[in-house]
Amino acid sequence: MGAVGIVAVSHSLRLAEAAQELAAQMVPGAAVPIALAAGAGTDADGSPILGTDATRVAEAIDELAGTCDGVLVLMDLGSAVMSAEFALELRASDVPVRLASAPFVEGLLAAAVTAAQGASLDEVAAEANGALVAKSAQLEDEQQTPAAAPTPAAPRADGEVVRTVVVRNPAGVHARPAALIGQAAQGAPLRLRLLPAGEPVPAASMMRLLAFGARRGDEVELEGERGAVERVAALFDDGFGEMDGAPSTPAVPSVPEAPSAPATAAAQSPAAVLDPGATLHGLGVSPGVAVAPVAQLGEAIAEPAATDGVPEDRREAEAARLAPAAAEVVAALRADAARSEGETAQILEATALLAADPEFAAAASARVRAEGVSAARAVWDEAEEQARLLRDLGGRTAERVADVRSVRDRLVARLTGADVPGIPDRAEPFVLVARDLAPAETAALGRSRCVALVTEEGGPTSHTAILARALGIPAVVGATGATSIPAETVVLVDGEGGIVQLDPPERQRATASEEPPAFDGRGELADGTPVALRANVGGAADARAAAAAHAQGIGLFRTEFCFLDRAAEPTVPEQVAAYRGVLAPFAGRTVVVRTLDAGSDKPLPFATAADEENPALGVRGLRVAVAHPALLSHQLTAIADAAAQEGAEVEVMAPMVATVDEARDFVAACRAAGIARAGIMIETPAAALLSAEMLAVVDFVSLGTNDLTQYTMAADRLSAPLGALNDPWQPAVLRLIGTVGAAGRARGKPVGVCGEAGGDPAIAPVLVGLGVTSLSMTARSLARVAARLRTVTAEECRRAAEAALGASTAVEARAAAAAALG
Ligand code: PEP
Ligand code: MG
Repeated sequence: MGAVGIVAVSHSLRLAEAAQELAAQMVPGAAVPIALAAGAGTDADGSPILGTDATRVAEAIDELAGTCDGVLVLMDLGSAVMSAEFALELRASDVPVRLASAPFVEGLLAAAVTAAQGASLDEVAAEANGALVAKSAQLEDEQQTPAAAPTPAAPRADGEVVRTVVVRNPAGVHARPAALIGQAAQGAPLRLRLLPAGEPVPAASMMRLLAFGARRGDEVELEGERGAVERVAALFDDGFGEMDGAPSTPAVPSVPEAPSAPATAAAQSPAAVLDPGATLHGLGVSPGVAVAPVAQLGEAIAEPAATDGVPEDRREAEAARLAPAAAEVVAALRADAARSEGETAQILEATALLAADPEFAAAASARVRAEGVSAARAVWDEAEEQARLLRDLGGRTAERVADVRSVRDRLVARLTGADVPGIPDRAEPFVLVARDLAPAETAALGRSRCVALVTEEGGPTSHTAILARALGIPAVVGATGATSIPAETVVLVDGEGGIVQLDPPERQRATASEEPPAFDGRGELADGTPVALRANVGGAADARAAAAAHAQGIGLFRTEFCFLDRAAEPTVPEQVAAYRGVLAPFAGRTVVVRTLDAGSDKPLPFATAADEENPALGVRGLRVAVAHPALLSHQLTAIADAAAQEGAEVEVMAPMVATVDEARDFVAACRAAGIARAGIMIETPAAALLSAEMLAVVDFVSLGTNDLTQYTMAADRLSAPLGALNDPWQPAVLRLIGTVGAAGRARGKPVGVCGEAGGDPAIAPVLVGLGVTSLSMTARSLARVAARLRTVTAEECRRAAEAALGASTAVEARAAAAAALG
């Protein structure tokens, strides 16, 4: 092995060759290995095309890897930077590589000279990065340094540098990355600007970073003190530690632990929910069932009067109250964090950063001075302004509104001497109901007797959801009308079905807390009709748990879950090992392996585009395989190989199929790989409507009711406000399921359900009545579904299905089915 090699990435081959020639003249006789990755080939006339190509950069790195201890990559500008970054994911070798933010020509020369002296990779990189200093000093005209150049890091007259980075983590710059950026800047001057036209945002302003809105694939310009720029750039390069598909802290997950259940929600009015015995519907975000009296979290702190004007001569003193109040809030939050652990502590730390935001304090002070309002009112107005910005950004960012309000309430409480509303201190178990919960409230939850959480707002990634899952208590969010439930009303909270039932009958109270008998491995109706009950798994550990719960097989193996952390496609042997882990516990039983369902809510860096406008309707599921046929053929080879080595009965199915041609081609690909049974998921209305034709070419189908509902109702399955639409009881969805069931019966081919509806004991008899022959679910639902099915006959299921199909609303469908089943 030799010393350091250099890859020169340029849009122009001629520029790269000329720079290489210059470098060679600087080190006559020395053989510094320099590989060029420049230009994008030639056109029909043989003229060079300007451009860069990540694959070529990766090849150049690999070329040098055989003979070098390290590789420094120098690039010119714009897409060259992105190609170089992307190349790090594409390369096959594992030689250490540094991307230099140095100017291309000067950097190449400096690097070549230093490398020729046998310097280390770090030394070569440092020398390249400092290559402009001599020129700047000599010309004494520091304005000539390319201060405005967006990439790569360009030193400026004032000693600051500018560098462009790319957002690589799937969730973009959300709360956790924002906190990391603030910490990495270490108080040094650093501004971030979303390219092409964003406003500069100081790294110290957590509030503004929350509203930054940078998504995966976006370019961000970092400008500031060199060390801070490098530290923050490293965070971006590392994808904020979230390139494994799940953030290193689940505080603000980018991918829910498991795909969220669609809420079994129904339209309702707040007035209706207050009737005794009424049921509220929301989004179930943490499983389990609990029954207890309601304790309402007190209303947020009272809004300070807007009319309490502060005379001119006292405004300065009033504004000066803000900084000490903020400091006290920060200290209190940090003290809470120190008393907490895990996610709670991390969330509190992040909230402390929000409270410490100097921009926020400055903006509030400015309001006091300019508008003559009280400090408390200024905080209130400024926080509302921030909350509005976050809400307008929508999605996960909007879920951070509760955090801003929490900081607001704490600050206002300090400034006015009021108490901050908190978790009720009760000796008996209670269900906590709130508009939304923020860290300040939830920190104490673990120490309280709270047995379930219900909120009117919030989504699957809200703190309520995260903390409830961490505490292992059921939670329902987006339950409209919940704050109107009178205190002390006994409620049943079903965190899987997203249901909050007021005053449940005595019988239900008892059975809710009762564990059904363990599943004995035989799914059947009261009359002995078999209904296979299988498990949904994402890997070997799930499979072992499913086998322990006596699942009759695996109805859905989400293979993409094995590879969420991979930047590059896993090799066939790696895939074989992952699949064998799932097949091994199920020898002799059916295992339905789903090919990669990459895209939308489960992006895989190696398979999905980062910049789709509308990923749920984009290149996801089987469509990825159509775009990258090798991905599918490698996976089918690996599945066939794993199946040959284990004793499970392997069936393979494709996600997101919309046309019969796709189904036919998929079956052909499976057969070619030696897979005997091939099917498809029915997740699109198109596939459901064509189920007869689909079943003519496949061996089986499985209804992915999560996506089928989302696409039928045109409602994002992760959206809390759309929970009422994302309900498999919606008659439109039931009728599509009925169409598929009828097609299955006519063809004598199996029809499974592997969406979350398959694990809901309430709808299970209806699904069976509609023609479904197997249900697949999370292993912990097996016992409840099995117990329910044992109480109904095939004829009763058919009648319940007929009644539900005749309904015109989801509420009516539930009621009709319940009535038919007695
Ligand atoms: C579904 O859509 O119902 C399904 C089972 O697939 P996933 O939840 O993985 O998208
Ligand atoms: Mg799906």
